[in-house]
Amino acid sequence: TSRFEVVQQGPPIEVFQLNRMFLEDPHPSKVNLSIGAYRDENGKPWVLPVVRKMEKQMANDETLLHEYLPVLGIEQFSAASTAMLLGEDSPAIASGRAFGVQTLSGTGSLRVGAELLNKHLGYTDFYYSVPTWDNHRLVFVNSGFTNPHTYRYWNAQDRAIDFDGLIEDLRSAPENSVVLLHACAHNPTGIDPTQEQWEKIADVMEERKLFPFFDSAYQGFASGDLDQDAWAVRYFVKRGFELVCAQSYAKNFGLYNERVGNLVLVINDASLVPAMKSQLTWIVRGMYSNPPAHGARIVANVLANKQLFDEWKEHIKLMSARVIQMREALRAELIKLGTPGNWDHIVKQIGLFSYTGLTQRQAEHLVQEYHIYLLKSGRINICGLNPSNVEYMAKAMNDAVV
Ligand code: PLP
Repeated sequence: TSRFEVVQQGPPIEVFQLNRMFLEDPHPSKVNLSIGAYRDENGKPWVLPVVRKMEKQMANDETLLHEYLPVLGIEQFSAASTAMLLGEDSPAIASGRAFGVQTLSGTGSLRVGAELLNKHLGYTDFYYSVPTWDNHRLVFVNSGFTNPHTYRYWNAQDRAIDFDGLIEDLRSAPENSVVLLHACAHNPTGIDPTQEQWEKIADVMEERKLFPFFDSAYQGFASGDLDQDAWAVRYFVKRGFELVCAQSYAKNFGLYNERVGNLVLVINDASLVPAMKSQLTWIVRGMYSNPPAHGARIVANVLANKQLFDEWKEHIKLMSARVIQMREALRAELIKLGTPGNWDHIVKQIGLFSYTGLTQRQAEHLVQEYHIYLLKSGRINICGLNPSNVEYMAKAMNDAVV
């Protein structure tokens, strides 16, 4: 007997399960469109050259130690990261009303931010889009938010944003609800609100006194341009909202397993910053005590050096351009095959993902018959496609749809 007999098997995490099935599958034509990680033209993971360069340099730097970092991480990292999000010339930064703290990638940022809002501001209601990244709800519930709500986002029929539904749902939200917004490259749909739509979202949130919590996991990945991808966050700041934003360097730096993130906080009163930093310190202290250094050092060094920064921006452009090319290639193949339906949404969507519109049955058909691994929602990671497998993917989709 064991006292642990009470522990029951939990459900698998779909995306990691699919990734494992892919790795274990011996089929020569297998394709992995599940996990949200960049792949190069040969389907291989890509360590950004600027990251490799920094790592080689760091390996020879005897002054780098493995001492503990401060609880809130490396200040130069957080400052550079906050400036990347809000803009170098941000008045909120200049007036001392905006600051950042280093966190464990995007997920850790969401968790620390949510815990601050729950424990110190007493917020209990939060809204996430349907669909959203499948971890949002769990992170907020585990942070103490007892009232999860959803807002409409995807109109399956039009394969577009359900903007009227979104506005209607936000309009009926109770005051002080926290609204999770994807800063850019909405996961999983790949559809972002237009600037006009963002303005209307801000109007409703202001009117209903809702709190914006941005999730920025793909800055630079959507358009290839860091400033353009930060437009929505900067707009909300300009409108005078107090807000928080979780930044992740998993995708845009390819530092997935290094857990590099930053939680940005923008508040109205700069004199409150010391108290907020002290409470964030206690939240982190009780959760994981302090963050790791390696990845944050890489990002801090790259952001601080103009030449390295430019080099990184070229990497982002290259990655986002490859994704756009593959979107076009997939649509072109489907048109060539005469696959029924309209496939324009594949090229209209942005970021790593496409919400293909394939049904669960069709998605499963692709996994079982073609060894093409994708989520049952029909979401595919576009950069799992490359010139050697895009035709195969289109044929499989054609077979599933016809
Ligand atoms: N938010 C969104 C929308 C994501 O897609 C992801 C990763 O897939 C994350 C946050 C967090 O990722 P990480 O914790 O690896 O930075």
